[in-house]
Amino acid sequence: MRYVDTASLTIPAGWRQRAERAAAKVKDEIEAGQEPTFPSLWSEHPLRDPLIAIIGQKCWYCETNVHGSNPDVDHYRPKKGPATAGTHSGYWWLAYKPDNYRIACKYCNSGGGEFEDGTRPAAKVALFPLLNESDRATTPSADLKLEKPVLLDPTDKNDHFLIDFSADGWPQRRSTAPLSALERAAGICRVEGSIEICRLDRDLLNEGRAGKMEEVTKAVKAIDAIAGTVPTASDHLEQMVRNWIDQRNLYSGAALSALRAHRYLPLIEKTFATELAADSPEAALAERTLAIIDVIYLMGVGVISPGALLTGNGPTGEVTAELLPDGRIRYGARPYASLDSAAKAATGAADTDGWIFWSTSYKGSLQQLSTLRNDQLSGNRLSTGSQQDAVDISVCKLSNTRDAATTAALEQIMALRQDCPG
Ligand SMILES: [Zn+2]
Repeated sequence: MRYVDTASLTIPAGWRQRAERAAAKVKDEIEAGQEPTFPSLWSEHPLRDPLIAIIGQKCWYCETNVHGSNPDVDHYRPKKGPATAGTHSGYWWLAYKPDNYRIACKYCNSGGGEFEDGTRPAAKVALFPLLNESDRATTPSADLKLEKPVLLDPTDKNDHFLIDFSADGWPQRRSTAPLSALERAAGICRVEGSIEICRLDRDLLNEGRAGKMEEVTKAVKAIDAIAGTVPTASDHLEQMVRNWIDQRNLYSGAALSALRAHRYLPLIEKTFATELAADSPEAALAERTLAIIDVIYLMGVGVISPGALLTGNGPTGEVTAELLPDGRIRYGARPYASLDSAAKAATGAADTDGWIFWSTSYKGSLQQLSTLRNDQLSGNRLSTGSQQDAVDISVCKLSNTRDAATTAALEQIMALRQDCPG
C-alpha cells in the first residue's frame, strides 16, 4: 500500500450536479423509511478515470494491476450497512462523496480470492470494523474524525507506513511501528485486520511481491558489490531501483520494503538517502520511544530459538506450532503473522491473546511466552540501549538473515540508524 494523495483530483462539474441529485434522492428514501437505491455514478468514466490516473492502473489496497480489468470504485466507508456493526444503516450520505472513493481490484473489494481453509469473510464488501465501535457515525451530522477504522486507508498519510513485507512477500506489521494505544485497548492490530478484510496475503500477491523484492535485493547487492567502480552500471541499477519503488509501479510498497531491508549497507543508505528519509514518518519516530518486545526480540536475545516448538491448549486438546526464523508462526498448513493470529486460528476465538496461549520450553520447563516477555520487561531490558537492539534485530527480520556479514553490518548501522528507524 502506498499513500494516494487525492488533493489533485478534479471532478467534472456535470458529474457533481448529478451526484447531488442522486444524494438528495437517497436522502428522501431514507427519510421515508424506504430501502435506498443508489445510481452507480461512481463507476462512470468522468469520475473513475481521474481517480485511476492518480497512481496509475493499480488497486489502492493491494497494488495489483487493474489494467483491463474494469476496476471498482470502492466506498471506503460502505454505503450500505457495515457487516460488523449490527443494525447500522451504512454511510448512505457518503455514497456520492469522492473523498470516500478508493480504486480497488475485484479481489479486494468483492472477493474471489480463496484460501485453503476457506474460513475468511468474502473480501471487503461492507466490512468496516472500528477500533472504537461506540464512536461509529450513524448520521450525516456525526464527526467521522472520531471513528478509528481498522482498515488501513491509502489516502491517509500515516496508514501506509504501518504495513511491511517479509522477504517472501507476506504482508506484516512494520516492526518499528508498535501497536497504538487504541489498538492495544481493542486487541486489534490494524495491519492484521486489513490483511483479513482485503485478503492482502493472497498467494498471487505474495508471489508478485516476492518476485519484485528479489529483483530489488539483487540490484542493491550489485550496487554495493561494485561500489561505484563501474559508474554506468551503478547508475543503471540505481535507476532500476528508483523505478521499482515509484508508487506508480506494481508492488512498489514491497519493493520499498526490500530496499529498506538493505539500508544496513552504508552505500545503500547513502545512495537512497532521499527515498529512505521519505519512508521514515514523523509518527513512527515519535512512537519509537515505545517498547518493542516481540518474538523477534526474544529470539535476538536468545530467550527462544528459531524453529522452537510452541504448544497451546486448544478447544479439543493440545495444539502445536513452530516459530519461524522471520518471526511468523507456522500453525497447520500456513504461517501466521503473529502469535495472536496463530492462536486465534487454533482456538477459533477472536479474543485469544497469543502471548498467553502459546508456551515453549525454557531452561527445562514449559513457560508461557507472556512470562518470558515480562521477564525481559522486568529485567529493565527496555532501556534506551535495548530499544536500539530491538530496532536492529528488526533489521535482521527484514533481511531474513543472521549471517556473519549481517552481524558485522549491524555493528556499523548502530551509528547510522540513531535517527532513522527502518
Ligand atoms: Zn486489490
